[in-house]
Amino acid sequence: MRMEQTLILMKPDTIQKRLIGIVLSRFESLGLDIVAAKAVVTNRALWEQHYANLKGTPFVDSVIDFMMGNFNNLPDHRMYAFVLRGENAISKVRTVLGATNPEKAEPWTLRGQFGCIKNDVMQNAVHASGNAEDAAREIALWFKPEEILP
Ligand code: UDP
Ligand code: MG
Repeated sequence: MRMEQTLILMKPDTIQKRLIGIVLSRFESLGLDIVAAKAVVTNRALWEQHYANLKGTPFVDSVIDFMMGNFNNLPDHRMYAFVLRGENAISKVRTVLGATNPEKAEPWTLRGQFGCIKNDVMQNAVHASGNAEDAAREIALWFKPEEILP
């Protein structure tokens, strides 16, 4: 067991469906602590840094378009970001989140329950850091050190 931090972003489908509270509750009930939280107006430069690990993939541009909120017609490019901390937080969160494609996600996972059921891999409810390296990079991108509880 190791103490870890992971970055959570509520994707536009979750924002539009007003499921943020329910999704956050599932992470809280894993025993993880919410050590940072904010609402952010995003821009493309921020998303390009966030998805630096996907650079060169054929889907990175469409993922950024989606995350910018062009899906839900909100008046701004809003995003809700959280840092969760706890024992094995990265893998615990990924297990509860489920497979990237909601159609393949187990039915008890967040993506199985709240993702798009029509094989739309874009609308998959939540972003969560994939590994320790990405988590450290993503948390530093979205939060200043003083915005995270000690
Ligand atoms: N994605 C996509 N097409 C793909 C793979 C991924 O549109 O073939 C999207 C999907 O929304 C996913 C995001 O890109 O959540 C980031 O991809 P990653 O492989 O990191 O999946 P995740 O870590 O979110 O499960
Ligand atoms: Mg990923």
